[in-house]
Amino acid sequence: MRLSTVEPVDVDNAQDKFQYRCGIDRAMFFQTMRRLIPRAWLALSFALAVGCLPEKDREFTRARQLMMHEQLTGPGRGIQDERVLAAMRTVPRHEFVPENVRFSSYDDRALPIGHGQTISQPYIVAFMTEQLKPQPTDKILEVGTGSGYQAAILSSLVQQVFTIEIIAPLAQRAAADLRRLNYTNVFVRAGDGYAGWPEHAPYDAIIVTCAPDQVPAPLVAQLREGGRMIIPVGPEGSEQQLYLLEKHGGQVKQRTVLPVRFVPMTRITPKP
Ligand code: SAH
Repeated sequence: MRLSTVEPVDVDNAQDKFQYRCGIDRAMFFQTMRRLIPRAWLALSFALAVGCLPEKDREFTRARQLMMHEQLTGPGRGIQDERVLAAMRTVPRHEFVPENVRFSSYDDRALPIGHGQTISQPYIVAFMTEQLKPQPTDKILEVGTGSGYQAAILSSLVQQVFTIEIIAPLAQRAAADLRRLNYTNVFVRAGDGYAGWPEHAPYDAIIVTCAPDQVPAPLVAQLREGGRMIIPVGPEGSEQQLYLLEKHGGQVKQRTVLPVRFVPMTRITPKP
């Protein structure tokens, strides 16, 4: 807002010729107001919306903000993809973890989700997602649905997510949570993901969140030409490596990108 300089008023008619007033440029004033009011309104609505959240939700929102700075973009981490960061900032991780560990939802670690399985550490979820370079038109396959959190992160970044979980009760719970939270482009199936989901192949990208001893051949076959796969490989409990694979001319180029620790890829459906 510009304040005009001290400006004389109708000097001829003024009783006191030395009468001055401090004037505001009126056109400038209204123009500025027109610009500021919508922004102020937006800020107010946001503050009200956050303010109206129950105290618990506000705590989770704050914890998620902290997670962004301390675990994802902070020193030694460096997730940069803006779309991936937006997804991590938005998806309510606490909605995907069991009640008894919910207070740790945004901690820098994996958490138990029942049936001896875990939801990956937020950084690993963000890192693997960024490595996939997901595009809005992509169709993605995930092996190892677990809680459904990784699938929810991918949901806003791509067109469709097909995800397979070998433990049927986990698949059912994840499907219910994803439905409840309105992630309508995620399709969950209970089964052995080693064989992929051939009916929807080829996939633009494949993400595997359990560790086999070797890269499963059916998954390579279901990756489209030019597609990418991120997969942890190695035995349980000892050193595993996260591999990034790219398929070109039918050939697969692979490189290791990070040492990791994942639950094993199992082959036989355990009894619930
Ligand atoms: N992506 C998950 C983390 C899953 S942990 C999340 O966001 O929560 C790995 C999951 O892989 C476990 O739930 C485990 O049951 C599942 N899994 C192991 N072997 C599998 C297989 N052969 N096919 C499909 N899922 C498998």
